[in-house]
Order: sequence, then C-alpha cells, then structure tokens
Amino acid sequence: SREWHLVARPHGWPKAEDFALREAPVTAPGEGRVLVRNLYFSVDPYMRGRMNDVKSYTPPFKLDHPMEGGAVGEVIASNAEGLAVGDHVLHGLGWREYADVPAEHAVKVDASLAPLSAYLGVLGMTGLTAYAGLFEVASFKEGDVVFVSGAAGAVGSQVGQMAKLKGASRVIGSAGSDEKVKLLVEEYGFDAAFNYKNGPVAEQLREAAPDGIDVYFDNVGGEHLEAAISSLNLHGRVTVCGMIAQYNATEPTPGPRNLALVIGKRLRIQGMLVGDHAALQPQFVQDVAGWLASGELKYRETFVEGIENGFDAFTGLLRGENTGKMIVSLA
Ligand code: NDP
Repeated sequence: SREWHLVARPHGWPKAEDFALREAPVTAPGEGRVLVRNLYFSVDPYMRGRMNDVKSYTPPFKLDHPMEGGAVGEVIASNAEGLAVGDHVLHGLGWREYADVPAEHAVKVDASLAPLSAYLGVLGMTGLTAYAGLFEVASFKEGDVVFVSGAAGAVGSQVGQMAKLKGASRVIGSAGSDEKVKLLVEEYGFDAAFNYKNGPVAEQLREAAPDGIDVYFDNVGGEHLEAAISSLNLHGRVTVCGMIAQYNATEPTPGPRNLALVIGKRLRIQGMLVGDHAALQPQFVQDVAGWLASGELKYRETFVEGIENGFDAFTGLLRGENTGKMIVSLA
C-alpha cells in the first residue's frame, strides 16, 4: 500500500521534495477497527496550514508519517460491529491507498443516494461549510446582496447557489479565469461575476454591485476583503471562511487598509470553522439532497487520477486548476 508522507515543512509554495510516496504494509484490522480500501481522498486548502509547525485549530502533520484528510472507501475487512465488508465509509485517513480506521471514526455512506465522491464535497465538509457559513455565520436573510470569492470552488460555488435558492436579491462571484466566470453566470445562476485577474477587485466589485453588498463570504482574504469592506452596506456581515491568497506567504500580509469603515457601517466580521456547526448536519443534508434531486443545485468535481498524483492535485488546488471540489481518485 502506498501513502503520502510529509518529509520537510514547506517554506512558501510546497515543493515536491517536501513530500514522499512511501510503501507501508497492509495489516488485518485490530479489535474495533476496519480495513478500508480508499476510493477517493480529498485535498483541501486547510492542509497547507497543517504542513507548518505552528499551533492551530488542527495539529500539524507529523514529519515522516502518513498525511491525513477526508476519504471515502470500501470496507474490505472488518473487526467491528456495525460495519461489514462491502460497506462504504467516510473517514479521516486519506492520502493513502489502504486505511486502518477505528470504527468510531468511520461514517457509513450510501452509494445509491449520491456518487461516493459527493460525500467529500457537496454533501460533505465543503458543502456544510457553505451552508453554515452563509445561513448561520453571516445571518443571511432574504433580499440580501451576496458577494462570494473563490466562487467557482467547492465552497464558493455552493454559497452563491444557496443564496439564490433562499432569496438573495443579487449574487456576485469572483474567480480566477474567464471560463470560471462564465460557468458562474451561465450554469450556477449568479447575477454577475468577474475574473479578479482582469483588474482591481474593488473596481470590478463596484461595477457588479452598484448598490453595494450586504454579505461577503470570504474564501480569499487580501485585496478581496478590502474591496468587500468598501462595498458593504450599513450592518453588512462578513463570514471569514478562508484566506487562500496568503496560505503560502512567507511574511505577514498587510490587513485591509480601510478597516476603519467597520465603525461607521457597523460591520460584523466573523470567522468560522465548519467543525463548530455539526448540529446543522441533518438540516444541511435534507436541504442539499432535495436541491440536488430537483436539479436546483449544481456542482462540479475535478478528479486527479492515481495516488502518485496526490501532491500535484494539492498544489493544483492552490493554483486554481480545479473547478468545484478537487478530489484524488483511486477507483
Ligand atoms: P476551492 O475549491 O475553492 O479551491 C481553492 C481555490 O482558491 C482555487 O480553485 C483558486 O480558484 C482559488 N485561489 C487560489 N489562490 C488564490 C488567490 N491568490 N486569490 C484568489 N483565489 C485563489 O477550495 P475550498 O472550496 O475547499 O476552500 C475554499 C476556502 O474555504 C479556502 O480558503 C479554505 O481554506 C476555506 N475553508 C474553510 C473552512 C472553515 O471551516 N473555515 C472549511 C473549508 C474550506 P481561482 O481559479 O478562482 O483562483
């Protein structure tokens, strides 16, 4: 069985030499455990943070140990009650072909309800992030004008569509290519979208939202956050979900220069972690499954084939090579 190890802590952009694909023995599962053949594993932006040796909300990856992350696979041997050979499970031991998983950390998923990869994206962690970040953290209400960055990604594409489904008066998205911008408007029903590489974000946002915005869902930080603060209306709300523009920065990055606007506009800027919102899971699944079944909610996935391409999938994600959820397929 092959598995990815972090062998050096990246400085700036991760380099191939910081990672190694290594062989590991496959063993029979111990008491209360299952052996899972992984079919898909997730690469996510937060993993960049776990490559640094700093105290954070998740502990750093250990050097010369298998990396971790969301995965879906098939149970091929079981030594645990309630899980049988042939069951499909979602668990946290990705970045490897075979995983020895404690049963309490494996959640059974149903391949007949949705494609298994969906449990890593639209019906999984990134979908819940969008749902909780918009409806709970940003206190979204009908009639709001919503702006989301990273809008063609796994989280952002769902934020924009969910806002439309719940009665946003206008939804604006930004993304890093003209194709992605086209997708936002033509397939996902955004009212306006722009390519942040084509000109200053503040100007493009002002044009797309002439009457300002009420909610900003931030996946990017930096110039996007500053532009959003300028365009936010009185009592506007910001969900700070991610700041991917600075994950590979080697120096602290400057904050928004217009932060003082927060006072007069009485803005609320709120960080979030999806793990705090597990209580929303049943309602999230019910809503999203319904929207998927009716065809009202759309999603894309970008598959990278083969465990040997795991590192490239991860850096490709940071470079924007994905549309929708980036997934490594081992099937
Ligand atoms: P995405 O599917 O959105 O993939 C990342 C995208 O970021 C890329 O496709 C790329 O798209 C964009 N990007 C990369 N660099 C930049 C840049 N410098 N400026 C603007 N955009 C950039 O990933 P996710 O949907 O999984 O995650 C989106 C965000 O949400 C991330 O910031 C992530 O850390 C955060 N997150 C936070 C969670 C939480 O609990 N707080 C949970 C899950 C995700 P493009 O081509 O448009 O540049």
